[in-house]
Amino acid sequence: MANVIKELISEKDVDEKIRILGEQISKDYEGKEVHLICVLKGSIFFTCELAKHISVPVTLDFMSVSSYGNEKNSSGVVRIVKDLDENIEGKEVIVIEDIVDTGRTLSYLLQLLQERHPKSLALCTLLDKPERRTHEVEVDYTGFQIPDEFVVGYGLDYAQKYRNLPYIGVLTEE
Ligand code: 5GP
Repeated sequence: MANVIKELISEKDVDEKIRILGEQISKDYEGKEVHLICVLKGSIFFTCELAKHISVPVTLDFMSVSSYGNEKNSSGVVRIVKDLDENIEGKEVIVIEDIVDTGRTLSYLLQLLQERHPKSLALCTLLDKPERRTHEVEVDYTGFQIPDEFVVGYGLDYAQKYRNLPYIGVLTEE
């Protein structure tokens, strides 16, 4: 069987939406500094592009979590693979995610980060699949709400492939 990718959100639409999100964040954090936490690896492209459109001072840190499960579903048991390099206490933190699916990974992650006493903690996701939610998560900035399909591109992978696609596509096997 071959993997087939059907475009869901074009490169132009993704770029435009990220620009709008960057402008919104710049407005909301006017006069402040933001500390972006990129959740590796899926959020890397989104974080870099978004940061370029934020006009207030930006600092960046990276975290890697692994959610045990198979290639298309997370199990909800989350393990920190790489922790942050810097303390977030007193900072205006925005967690940058590629996609919120069931919400399990993020509800765990946000709770963990909250315990480190940031001044504020917000969540920005490129994609959201609300139909799949089993764990309540408050999303502050959303790029696109999408249907319950497995998507790749713009950082999202299938077996580590397709992250470099400049658009979002639905992956199917034919
Ligand atoms: P959650 O804990 O919300 O169920 O899972 C979030 C993680 O599952 C995402 O960060 C992502 O790594 C993975 N994931 C969920 N849906 C998709 C999808 O449609 N495509 C890809 N490539 N990964 C997904």
